[in-house]
Amino acid sequence: MNEELKKKYILAGKIAGEAREFARQMTKPGAKIRDICQKTEEKIRELGGEPAFPTNISINERAAHDTALSNDERVIKEGDLVKIDVGAHVDGYIGDTACSVTYNKSYETLIKAVENALSEAIKLCTPGRKLEEISATIEKIIKSYGYLPISNLTGHGLERFNLHAQPQILNVSCKTTYQLKEGQVIAIEPFATLPSGAGKIKDIAEKKIYMLINPKPVRNRNAKLIMNFAKRYNGLPFALRWLPVQGFGLLVALKELEQKNIIYDYPVLSEINKEPISQAEHTVIVAEEPIVTTEIRAK
Ligand code: MN
Ligand code: MN
Repeated sequence: MNEELKKKYILAGKIAGEAREFARQMTKPGAKIRDICQKTEEKIRELGGEPAFPTNISINERAAHDTALSNDERVIKEGDLVKIDVGAHVDGYIGDTACSVTYNKSYETLIKAVENALSEAIKLCTPGRKLEEISATIEKIIKSYGYLPISNLTGHGLERFNLHAQPQILNVSCKTTYQLKEGQVIAIEPFATLPSGAGKIKDIAEKKIYMLINPKPVRNRNAKLIMNFAKRYNGLPFALRWLPVQGFGLLVALKELEQKNIIYDYPVLSEINKEPISQAEHTVIVAEEPIVTTEIRAK
C-alpha cells in the first residue's frame, strides 16, 4: 500500500475511533438514540471525515443495522446492552469500528468475550495468515466464556467506497485456503450471544438504512429527488433520516425505488431466539505488526 493511501486509512480510522468513544460517553440510560446518532455523525465531520454509514445503535437482541429515524423518540434504558457501530471515511477510505456498552452487570462478561476475541484475532492479522485461523480463534475464545459466536455475521475487507469487500471473515471455524496479504485492510467484528440463543441472526421488518445501487429513470417526484440526493454517498449506505423527503412522501418514494431495484435495503438484524448480542470491531491493516487504525484510548 502506498503511503498516501495508508495515511488516509489511518486518518479515517482515527476519526471513526474518536467518534466511537464520543458515542460511548453519550450512551447512558435516558439518552435519546437520535441524539447519539446525529451528534456522532456531526463529530465525524468536525474531525474532517464523512460518515461511511449511519451510526448504528442496536439494542439487546438486535445485532446491527438499527439507527434513528427522523422522528425517533427511543431512549437508552437501564438494563440495555447497546452496540454502537461507527464508520468514517476520508476520500472513500474507511474506518469501521464498534463497541458494546451496558450498565447491566449481567452483560459484562458477554462484552468481555467479544473484546478478548477481537484483540486475539488482531494479533493474527499478519501477511500469509490463513483466515480459518482467525475464525477458529474467535470461536474458541467466545466459547471459552460459555457463549455462542454468531455464525452468520462476519468481518470483511474494506476498499475505497466499498464497505463490504472480500474476504468475509467468519466468527466460527470454516475451511478456506484464503490467506491475508500485506497492506490489505480488513474489519474484524466478533458477535456473541448467550448459550440459550440460536447463535444466528435474521432480518426483521424494520428498514432504516439503504444504499443506492442502480440509478435509473423513475416516475415519482420524491423518488427522483431521493435518488439524486443519494448519489453523494458514492455507493455507501445512508440513513432514511438523512433524506430531504420524510413522512408519507418518503414511504411512497421508497416503494418505487425498491421495486425498481434502485436501492438496496439493510433490514435490522435480530438474534433468532431474541437473546442479547454483544459486538466489538476494529479496522486493521495487515502487517507483521498489525496496524489497528480505529484503536483510541477512552479519555
Ligand atoms: Mn461496523
Ligand atoms: Mn464492519
